[in-house]
Amino acid sequence: NQSEDKLIEYMDELEFLAFTAGATVAKRFTQRLTQPDSKTFVGKGKMEEIRDYAKEHNIGTVIFDDELSPSQLKNLEREMEVKILDRTNLILDIFAQRAQTSYARTQVELAQYQYLLPRLTRMWTHLERQKGGIGMRGPGETEIETDRRIIRDRITLLKDKLKVIDKQMGTQRNNRGKMVRVALVGYTNVGKSTLMNALSKSDVFAENKLFATLDTTVRKVVIGNLPFLLTDTVGFIRKLPTQLVESFKSTLDEVREADLLIHVVDISHESFEDHINSVNEILQEIDAHQKPMIMVFNKIDDFSYEKKDEDDLTPGSNKNISLEEWKRTWMAKSKFPTVFISALTKENFPEMKKMIYDEVHRIHISRFPYND
Ligand code: GDP
Repeated sequence: NQSEDKLIEYMDELEFLAFTAGATVAKRFTQRLTQPDSKTFVGKGKMEEIRDYAKEHNIGTVIFDDELSPSQLKNLEREMEVKILDRTNLILDIFAQRAQTSYARTQVELAQYQYLLPRLTRMWTHLERQKGGIGMRGPGETEIETDRRIIRDRITLLKDKLKVIDKQMGTQRNNRGKMVRVALVGYTNVGKSTLMNALSKSDVFAENKLFATLDTTVRKVVIGNLPFLLTDTVGFIRKLPTQLVESFKSTLDEVREADLLIHVVDISHESFEDHINSVNEILQEIDAHQKPMIMVFNKIDDFSYEKKDEDDLTPGSNKNISLEEWKRTWMAKSKFPTVFISALTKENFPEMKKMIYDEVHRIHISRFPYND
């Protein structure tokens, strides 16, 4: 069943995110609802099942694969008596752990406060309970207001700080002159940093965790005497918190202002088509979807498929499609140049480099028509 597969993939990804954040997952729970329960996200029975399991096994945190509303968060925390994290919170946490520069840290801090602001009240429920919940409402509310004001002030401050840095970074980008700018985009963990290293012979951090790349790296790359600037960007992910899309302005400006996008896809991943869609959605959100693009299908060394029973052809599943068969699907009709590589073994690198060269050259001569 296709949607069953999707569910497993989503949970796999969430588990990978949790692992990246430093957690170990004890058990997964899923539930099929036409729409989430407005009060508790999952239904009452499921909630009790999770609560009992958590109690019995001393579980400290329950993670939900979606952004919970402030009231859902509050209700769940009260009912379950464990720490509740939602997908947004988890992603923000990972970004916070990995932010290297003060710029990235400022961006994450802003996103975290924006997430926190409408959810402030839930901390008070705890306090109220600790203090017996009697008569705490009045002073509690006042203190929430005070906290809100402090956070709002902090948000304003961070926004101002970012504005200054954004301006500096804009100037920096302008000072790079008219060199053609190429940005690597793609879902998280598809191999962008690895490809960046391979192309620029630099040593960008690559590891098998989500969001290894937080801060953008810009490198000068030369292919066939043609120099251009290559940028590595933050990995995109399904349901990227909107707070982050907003606060990562400068990072995404690298993409917005690029002349050419190299869209890297991990073809060994079961949900690579979903990943492509998520990336395209974000590109659309930042108005960068009409740029010239090269599709690079990476990790062909890791691509495997099992030929299933002829009767058992699950529609939409890619497990039983060979690479050659894939190349004849919608991929054959893509309006973008397409190449299949391994950033690890460098298979088909000449072909990819030629493709990049052709695109960069085309942009280059449109910019410098007389001297090339
Ligand atoms: P990014 O998040 O898109 O920058 O991805 P990374 O460059 O950090 O790579 C994520 C993981 O995929 C790392 O463990 C890489 O070693 C691995 N990886 C990258 N390219 C390839 C490839 O062509 N084949 C295989 N098998 N693994 C790769």
